[in-house]
Amino acid sequence: MLSVTDLHIQFGELEVLKGLDLKLEKGKVIVVIGPSGSGKTTFLRCLNALETPNKGIITINNQKVDFQTTTRKKEIRELRKQTGMVFQTHNLFPHFTATENVMEGLVTVKKMKKNQARKIAQELLTKVGLGEKIDVYPYQLSGGQQQRVGIARALAMDPQLILFDEPTSALDPELVGEVLKVMQDLAEEGMTMVVVSHEMKFAKEAADEVLFMDNGVIVERGKPTDIFNDPQHDRTKQFLNKLQ
Ligand code: ADP
Repeated sequence: MLSVTDLHIQFGELEVLKGLDLKLEKGKVIVVIGPSGSGKTTFLRCLNALETPNKGIITINNQKVDFQTTTRKKEIRELRKQTGMVFQTHNLFPHFTATENVMEGLVTVKKMKKNQARKIAQELLTKVGLGEKIDVYPYQLSGGQQQRVGIARALAMDPQLILFDEPTSALDPELVGEVLKVMQDLAEEGMTMVVVSHEMKFAKEAADEVLFMDNGVIVERGKPTDIFNDPQHDRTKQFLNKLQ
């Protein structure tokens, strides 16, 4: 489903990703942890082609881009279509209702008729537990509800892979659970997911693998129980000690 080979990116003099390799099978969930500034968000943004790597090959669902040789916009657009992204803060359109936010991509990118897009949007909002909120505006929703609209919006594009960038880190603690629950349901349904999050409980319950990044490289990866209970590298140990 996802294959990343020798991914490099630098911003000016700063080398942020220093040769990442990753393979992920369909239906698997990987949780990425690591200190602030280690390159986690940049990695997700590369997978979604929001950043252009200097070097590396990314293949998602047979859509392959070699960033060293390709600058073709069409290939990059096709790669981006394979993924949906859920951001740290929802960035919904404030003047659109929940339904309108979710149907936006279907109408503008997929050129779907509005009636059909509205129906899909409302089904997805119901799926994330917001069937009662389809016609309200973002300011009328809690942070957790807004994040769930963001998840519905990512699902609307029918992605092969969903990327979550610290989806609960900006939420009040009592709202975290409802968002994680939706993510866990998706994982159980077989959605392929890459999740940047320090929510250990989610990682333990939903992840097939945890990957620890530091300073632009993958230091260690393994089953959640192995990484959390028996980390092999000192850097992983130090990081986990600080989390607890
Ligand atoms: P993390 O998600 O692990 O906190 P990031 O991927 O956000 O790390 O950032 C990794 C490093 O790259 C940081 O030093 C950050 O300042 C830098 N960085 C990220 N995006 C840019 C950019 N667009 N321009 C310049 N530097 C950036």
